[in-house]
Amino acid sequence: MFDKQIDEIFDDLADDLMELRVILEPLEALIPEGFFQLCDDRGRICSLPEKFDIEPDTRRQLLADALREHTLVGFERDGQRLYGYRLPGGDATLLFQLPQVRENLLTDSFRRDCFLNTIQLALLNRINQETVIENRQLQRHIKGLGQQHQRLIDENYEQYKRIQEKEKEYARELESEITRQTMELREANVRLEEASRMKGEFLANMSHELRTPMNAIIGFSGLLAESSLDEEQADFVETIRKSSSSLLVLINDILDLAKIEAGKLDLEEIPFELHALLKNVTDMFRSQALDKNNKVTFVQDKKLPVRFMGDENRLRQVLINLTGNAMKFTKDGTVEVLADFVRQEGDRSAIRFAVRDSGIGIPPERQAAIFEKFTQADGSTTRKYGGTGLGLSISCQLVELMQGEVQIESAVGKGSTFFFIISLPEAVEKKETAVKPKTTTAKATDEVKRKLRVLVVEDNPVNQKLATLLVKRQGCEVDVAGDGLQALDKLKEFQFDLILMDVQMPKMDGHEATRKIREIEATSARIEYVGLAGIDPVEIVGLTAHARKEDEQKCYDSGMNGFLTKPIIRDKLNEILQKRSG
Ligand code: ADP
Repeated sequence: MFDKQIDEIFDDLADDLMELRVILEPLEALIPEGFFQLCDDRGRICSLPEKFDIEPDTRRQLLADALREHTLVGFERDGQRLYGYRLPGGDATLLFQLPQVRENLLTDSFRRDCFLNTIQLALLNRINQETVIENRQLQRHIKGLGQQHQRLIDENYEQYKRIQEKEKEYARELESEITRQTMELREANVRLEEASRMKGEFLANMSHELRTPMNAIIGFSGLLAESSLDEEQADFVETIRKSSSSLLVLINDILDLAKIEAGKLDLEEIPFELHALLKNVTDMFRSQALDKNNKVTFVQDKKLPVRFMGDENRLRQVLINLTGNAMKFTKDGTVEVLADFVRQEGDRSAIRFAVRDSGIGIPPERQAAIFEKFTQADGSTTRKYGGTGLGLSISCQLVELMQGEVQIESAVGKGSTFFFIISLPEAVEKKETAVKPKTTTAKATDEVKRKLRVLVVEDNPVNQKLATLLVKRQGCEVDVAGDGLQALDKLKEFQFDLILMDVQMPKMDGHEATRKIREIEATSARIEYVGLAGIDPVEIVGLTAHARKEDEQKCYDSGMNGFLTKPIIRDKLNEILQKRSG
């Protein structure tokens, strides 16, 4: 539609040949017997009437003369005179022939000027008319453009409205899609949280289920070893003890790994002495070093502060693991545990821990693989040295939790260095850990100074028996309650110096029983309980196979004074008994 209108406009503008006629028409009206022809510079001819025909050579001659002379030129043909006149200011030449009777129009200068003026008038007339036409055409053009403009505005507006409508619809769809996806994500998140919680619970239960029987195996085989046995029996018991100890290490490793991978392992921030830690780690390997004719030493960089804040136990676990490996794969050589100052990072010191041995070394192509779970340097390692291939993987992950990375430098036959850099803040003042009870060092063989009365609250008969035996071995008197309720009943009648309180029990668990005991102690109800009537609150030590930090904290939160994990470490139990009797 629009294109057609534009074409029409330009067709009109292009019809300039027709416009030349307006010059001819007045001339022909003036001299009807004459012949007039206009020839424009593009060679197009316009004549009225059409019959006036000039032979081409003559026309060319006339046009050339007129263009050159810029005045009226004449040419004789068959006794007839033809004229050519270049229109002033125009781009066309008028060719004409006058009848005999009108030849006088050109005979004198006055008449000729009049005639040429007439032509010029016609020309002006043409220009005027042309301007009028052009003006009209421009107006039509402008009007067309205006209409077109309006149409475009209308169309744009329509389109804008359609787009707006579509945008609104799209926004509505987007919004509902986002709402739907957010709901889905929320639900997935809830499911994930639930799964993670269940995984955590499973880990805790698993840990409990595994440690409880291990408690009995290790405890009883320890007690059995102390009884009178013949050589063969003693050897069997020793085998049971060693196997159960390595089984416990494996269980702990697997649980640790599961905990790390479930994101359930949180590092502690407690003050510790670096020197004590390094000494403790190397001391643990003294007898092994003696057996293998190794020299085990540690060196602490003097530039390092004395005390740091961090998870001492996990750091110890890593160093024990690396030192244990170094010892395992070294004979007649050296094992060094090193702590070097690297740089100061604000209030933290970057420390490079390294365990260097002069052992068998690891070939370069196996160095990456040994960090994988259950992987060893070569297939014969297990047969020759034992191990499960878990230690390094756990160490790496623990160091990663501390923002470091375990690396290795090793050469076959020369030895290996495992090292990592972590940064720890300096511990400003010496203070006891938040939750741990004060411990005194005591030997398993030390007898308690006073005959204590101990109440063992434990539902598992095997564990009851073991705890009873262990406590009795220390010269204490023991009474047993199968759950929290039974414990409260016992406290009505008897006094105890110490309660060893299992946590997970039917009817009333250890936490609830402890809370109840503390509640009774704080009120007049205590007169009904012989065991709670004393001035001092009764000492309660939690006894649980749950070994997580939060489990420990939970014991203190419910009012217990101490915490022991199962399998019961005899030295730890004895320490508690001795402290109580002292
Ligand atoms: P495990 O020692 O229980 O097999 P690790 O994950 O601690 O598991 O070690 C994996 C393997 O890496 C070892 O079996 C051994 O092949 C290799 N390895 C680790 N430490 C050393 C070392 N200090 N010297 C030589 N080989 C080592």
